[in-house]
Amino acid sequence: MKNIGIDLGGTNIAIGIVNEDYSILKKGSVPTDSHRPWQDIVKDMASLIEKLMKETGTTMDEIKEIGIGSPGTPDIEKGVVLYSNNLGWDMVPLREELNKYIDKPVYLDNDANCAALGEFLAGAASGLDSAVILTFGTGIGGGVILNDRIWSGFNYAGGELGHVVIKTGGQPCTCGRNGCWEAYASMTGVIRQGNEAADAHPESELAKLRASGTKLNGRNIFEVAKAGDDVAQQVVDQFIFYIAEGVVNVINIFQPEAVVIGGAIANEGDYVLEPLRKYAKRDVFCKQVKLPQIIRAKLGNDAGIIGAAFVGDYQSKKTM
Ligand SMILES: [Zn+2]
Repeated sequence: MKNIGIDLGGTNIAIGIVNEDYSILKKGSVPTDSHRPWQDIVKDMASLIEKLMKETGTTMDEIKEIGIGSPGTPDIEKGVVLYSNNLGWDMVPLREELNKYIDKPVYLDNDANCAALGEFLAGAASGLDSAVILTFGTGIGGGVILNDRIWSGFNYAGGELGHVVIKTGGQPCTCGRNGCWEAYASMTGVIRQGNEAADAHPESELAKLRASGTKLNGRNIFEVAKAGDDVAQQVVDQFIFYIAEGVVNVINIFQPEAVVIGGAIANEGDYVLEPLRKYAKRDVFCKQVKLPQIIRAKLGNDAGIIGAAFVGDYQSKKTM
């Protein structure tokens, strides 16, 4: 049997037919074009599934179930997206709509949970019983997997690890609070910190780069630091410490077997992971026990597809 995983993003809908061993038989994507009616978006999902099945000679009988990872807050029991800021959605019945085209069980979960499950099943955390998977992008996506189940709270809205305050009265966050981890340790955070440092130190290479017309981003701030600019280096060091503050919180709360670091920051490898491990060793509450591994995510964008494909089997309650 095979499953179908749908990673619904603000820009693209990525879909894969996934084998029982979590390998992707075939994947494809179409633009989400989120301004159009959601019915049209679901219709495109169904068309892409049919196309992928046709191209691989997969029959409907071979498909066990379909899973969708969606941005926003899902009602996983009803298969409804309650709200999504990214897509501008309010109460969208994804399961019911997709079932108009394809008569298979359709499971729904949050996209960050699906990506976390993908890494847990087939990526960096495969073979473990528990892991917290963090994706550092515009914000911080988190997925908590405990005892082989996605933990998202009694109402499925938990696991929002980016919105834990690390600085009371700090920077405003998109959620309405101030000082959230995500406001400091995301790409948005490091870009703000880079710009502030460039303002304060116009003589720095960082400021010169910006003055040449290049917009600062996570990658070029790291590059300038590695090339020897002290100001950029301070920004990077502080940024890594912000990441560490949250990682230590995660370890103190969950003590998972692994903390998996994903997103663009993972490409920096040990340059980021080694200091994180040092901070964790120094700062966790319980220093007498074995520490969780801090490792980089492996699957990139495929994690969302693979996790979605199997999400129905790993939700904390039976949802259909
Ligand atoms: Zn927040």
